[in-house]
Amino acid sequence: MQAPLQTLRSIFQEAADLRSPRELLELIVGRVRDALEAEVCSIYLYSEEQKELVLAATCGLRERSIGRVRLPLGEGLVGHVAEHMHLLNVADAASHPDFHFFPETGEDRFKSFLGVPIVHFRKLIGVIVVQGVNPTAFSEAAEAFLITIAAQISGAIKHLLDNDILQELQYGITNLNLKVTGLKGAPGIAVGQVVWPRRESDLDTVDENQAGGIVEEELQAFRQALQAARQTLKESKQQLEGSAPKDVLALFKVYKMILSDQNWVNEVAGHITAGLSAAAAVKRTVESHARIFEQMDDPYLRAKSEDIRHIGNMVYSALNGEAQDRADETFPERTVLVGKNLSIADLTRCPQDKLAAVVCIGGSALSHVAVLASALGIPAVMGVPELKRRELQNDWVVVDGYRAQAIFNASPELLKEYRRLERSERRLIQGLDALRDKPAETPDGVRLTVMANTGLLADISPGLERGAEGVGLYRSEIPFMMHASFPSEEEQMQIYQHVLEAYAPRPVHIRTLDVGGDKPLPYYEINEDNPFLGWRGIRFTLDNAAVFMTQIRAMLRANVGLGNLAIMLPMVSDWREVDAFRKLLNDALKQLHAEGLDVPEPSVGVMLEVPAVMTCLDELAERADFFSLGTNDFTQYWLAVDRNNPRVADLYDWLAPSVLRAIAQIVAFCANRRIPLSVCGEMAADPAALMLLMGMGVNKISVSAANLLKAKWVIRTIPMERARSLWRKTRQMQSAEDIHAMLDATLVEYGLDGLTRAGGPGRT
Ligand code: PEP
Ligand code: MG
Repeated sequence: MQAPLQTLRSIFQEAADLRSPRELLELIVGRVRDALEAEVCSIYLYSEEQKELVLAATCGLRERSIGRVRLPLGEGLVGHVAEHMHLLNVADAASHPDFHFFPETGEDRFKSFLGVPIVHFRKLIGVIVVQGVNPTAFSEAAEAFLITIAAQISGAIKHLLDNDILQELQYGITNLNLKVTGLKGAPGIAVGQVVWPRRESDLDTVDENQAGGIVEEELQAFRQALQAARQTLKESKQQLEGSAPKDVLALFKVYKMILSDQNWVNEVAGHITAGLSAAAAVKRTVESHARIFEQMDDPYLRAKSEDIRHIGNMVYSALNGEAQDRADETFPERTVLVGKNLSIADLTRCPQDKLAAVVCIGGSALSHVAVLASALGIPAVMGVPELKRRELQNDWVVVDGYRAQAIFNASPELLKEYRRLERSERRLIQGLDALRDKPAETPDGVRLTVMANTGLLADISPGLERGAEGVGLYRSEIPFMMHASFPSEEEQMQIYQHVLEAYAPRPVHIRTLDVGGDKPLPYYEINEDNPFLGWRGIRFTLDNAAVFMTQIRAMLRANVGLGNLAIMLPMVSDWREVDAFRKLLNDALKQLHAEGLDVPEPSVGVMLEVPAVMTCLDELAERADFFSLGTNDFTQYWLAVDRNNPRVADLYDWLAPSVLRAIAQIVAFCANRRIPLSVCGEMAADPAALMLLMGMGVNKISVSAANLLKAKWVIRTIPMERARSLWRKTRQMQSAEDIHAMLDATLVEYGLDGLTRAGGPGRT
């Protein structure tokens, strides 16, 4: 018999070349059968929903029984193994009291049976079985072999289950629930039918050196194409007039400017005169201009390269006479536009009442398509990998803008669930807009403060538009991460000033550089075995005093004449770090005063993210003007669960009783000590958790602009009395599951079931 590790190695080596999940199962059963010299090896997968085991792969039983043989727990020998979560090794299967014969499998010839449960993180996920024709039990070595295999493949099997292999077996559709993940373009949930824009022309396919025909004719074709592209643009703009906000209509100006740019036009004409075809000349010009923007540090300027390419494609389409073909373009009632480098003109060709969502192959989260989708209130997922056009046309697709996912070929169950969510979201959104200027006040009159989390300049206006009462967390590392080197004091000053000015007189809490962990700086490599416990947050900045000093000076200078700056320190684990910061701050203030600048002294806050702070809240409160609870890191360090590790994702839960108890202690401390506290982690944007935070006494939160109105809705809907009673009940509860269930039921009771998906850990 082969050693189990050898078998596993050969399975994993070959697995890399497989094309479908089914093939992986086939490979495993084939290899295990050979290694044990058995007649049959099969894998049954457990459906948690149906509470039954489904034959998913077999080598030795009849193939047509795959997906058809189904056993409830406890039924048949396989059900017996599953129910007891223990192996079963019998010489004569038919004589076992739990034996159940399935004629479609053709298994009547087989006598011996060895079944081992496949368990993943304490949960049964399947059973692996070998069978033989001789009526002798399998050896102990065979048992050990199968136990090892079952343990080693459990991760891969769980992955298949998460990717809906059971439904694939049931419906016999390949690529069922084909999930692609991209970048968050615009939030929301939509279900619709895939439409690829009619445009076939893609400048990418043009040879840059393609020679032209008669120069005059090529020039004439180019001029006509320019004219047609301008016309298309005009029509697109007209489509939106009256319904889209001004800043969206302004996007068209950018396109128009590029199209009318005489330098650009002359450059194309120059290439044509030099002998290139009109298409090749357009491509050359577009590429050289787009490349300049692509190399820029600023993400917004980088995104401009997409605009230039869109314009190029528009002109190329016109050169190919595609504008005329579009008259008969039809769109289904719920259209999900899917395509490569979609442009805003593509979006506007679809009637607005039919456009449900956008999925863009390529394209950045900052592109104008994302901005337009946001303004139209439809979800957009950007930057997804290449998709096969022909396979997906007219398919039903689910677009989840919150998770930046699109699920093609969705199963009926999934479609039903998402349609329900879509409906309740729609109801919710209709009510949200009205909340912009309303205070964050509970129905029983308790006023809270809701601020915005931000880190990109583009985030400024969404927060303001949604009535943010300040910035509760400005993640200053984001501009650092987008640069090719540490940004200068002047550059930083301008960025900070922009935010401070936009929000003045409302407070802006700028967090000092928080790199390390999962936030690397492209130009400053830190190699550590354990980066989350390493050189990050304030540890990094205190050790790099020059970098820190530059940042502090930039913040202080930005605050001149405004006075709404507050500085927050990330990852503090010891009060001496605050002392060290205060010293630098005083030095910076002295320097700037000496330079003649009238810099006001900002308030200084400590982020509570490291559990050690729980035992030194007093010392920290002596040194800080306020606290800000970073629940993302706090949860991760309190529970010792990596927030980015899918293996332990289920354990990462801020509704776990121990996390809630710790937070409640912090809230009580702050109330007693009268030190202001705000909650700025994702927990505050999770409607279920927000109810509890309110009940504990949290009165200030900061959430991303996308979640701001939803948070306000929760606050304006749930009476404080109810929130307090929910918290009282929660304190008696022993498990996170019970807490989730109670809170979700409460949201449903208040008609906020659309919000049960809006955030929250462990529920992807
Ligand atoms: C947090 O840890 O909760 C937090 C707000 O900081 P970040 O997510 O940026 O680490
Ligand atoms: Mg943090």
